[in-house]
Amino acid sequence: MGQSKAGVLAAALTLATGLAMAQPMGIPSMGPVASAELSPQLERTLGDAIMEQGRRDPTYIDDPDVNQYLTELGRKLAASSPHGTQTITVFAIRDPQINAFALPGGYIGIHSGLVTAAQNESQLASVVAHEIGHVTQRHVARGMTQQSQTSHMMMASVAAALLAALAGSGDLAMGVAAFGQAAAVDRQLGFSRQAEQEADRVGLEMLRRSGFDPSGMAEMFNQLMNASRLNEGMGGGAYASTHPLSIQRMSDIQNRIRETAVRPQPDSDAFWFVRAKLRVIQAARDSAAQQSAQASLRREAEQSQGVRAAAAWYGLAYSAWLRKNYSEAAVALQRAQQGGAYTPQIAALASQLALQQGQGSQAVEIAQKAHQRWPGNQAAALSVVIALQESGRHDEALSFLNERVRQWPEEPRFYQLKAQGHERLGQQVEARRAMATYYEKTGAVRAAVDQLQQARGLSKDFYVQSQLDVQIRALKEKVESDRRLLEQFKQ
Ligand SMILES: [Zn+2]
Repeated sequence: MGQSKAGVLAAALTLATGLAMAQPMGIPSMGPVASAELSPQLERTLGDAIMEQGRRDPTYIDDPDVNQYLTELGRKLAASSPHGTQTITVFAIRDPQINAFALPGGYIGIHSGLVTAAQNESQLASVVAHEIGHVTQRHVARGMTQQSQTSHMMMASVAAALLAALAGSGDLAMGVAAFGQAAAVDRQLGFSRQAEQEADRVGLEMLRRSGFDPSGMAEMFNQLMNASRLNEGMGGGAYASTHPLSIQRMSDIQNRIRETAVRPQPDSDAFWFVRAKLRVIQAARDSAAQQSAQASLRREAEQSQGVRAAAAWYGLAYSAWLRKNYSEAAVALQRAQQGGAYTPQIAALASQLALQQGQGSQAVEIAQKAHQRWPGNQAAALSVVIALQESGRHDEALSFLNERVRQWPEEPRFYQLKAQGHERLGQQVEARRAMATYYEKTGAVRAAVDQLQQARGLSKDFYVQSQLDVQIRALKEKVESDRRLLEQFKQ
């Protein structure tokens, strides 16, 4: 990943992967502070801090369909890991190259190009499983503490930048320079062959146990090897450079696949719909890419059948929606449903189109029905909130949101909407408190403290004030302990 192109996130991520990669396996870790550094707590703190920067990067894809689908795919795979693992969170960045990477703290980044290049769900799952393999085998954690000059320098740069952010003196330019410097060094490095083979082995086991087709891994590798050999526009070189592919790796995988007989489950509808959406998102900032994405979606819509055709029509509808061509979006969305397909993605777009046409109550009805049909789907729940809020039904939106934050206490975006809802109803203290939780869940602990202090100043209720004091103290302690952990690396 080039930092010139993708900015802070890419640099931070390249760096973080570099940390993970910069290690010959099997050497002893760093010495007296090694156990503290290897703790899952520190790993999570680092991961959270990197993600806090990453979420603000323009390449980060902030989309509920994409986030929930990828994270559930990752957690399904991790649940069948023979080794157990920390909580996995999978996110996507806008980048046509076929690549993926593991960060500290169980965060896994997927390039949109990997999803759009996958020809079936098992192919996508195979790369996600491989990355989870790096997590369960602690390659990332071990890479952070290896005894090399490079790794110390990189870790010190990350720590310095993260400490600056923590202190609120966030000199972003300095942070970027530190990340960039380390990223340049990183390109020389890679996971060891042994680590790659271990991640393949663990990944294949996860694939098999969770009902995916292990052949997906061999197919994906073939695709990557061809892409890097031909050096085509699609990339593939990127993945190959961070995950060295070799004949040896390939034949290991093929041998293991031969040993396992499985009848894989069919691809989920969500895979095809999220893939279609990502084809549009990936192309959204470049008009030539936009036109070629539309042309290929149209071909697929007309030439394929069943869920693939429905998903391609949905992609065309979503593309028209982004271009504010609402009548074209409505026509394509109708076509998506012609074979009887109906998914949370179709429902969410239908609800938003109804809103656009001034049919608020119809928009609410479509969204509520979708939420009843798919109660575990965050995008469907989100469209209920949007439809209610846009129709001025703030009280209903708020009580719906209160149930959703109980359902998904770790999902930041519902707290943000809750804050907006309270704000619109003039409930300043509650708005600040919800916003504080939003910041806390996205790793922005200092911003969370600011919100709580504002709430403290606005509140006239003694009970609420003392609750806030407790919360503020706890968060300040967290800032302080994060700072101490990071200081260990700054040398
Ligand atoms: Zn790898």
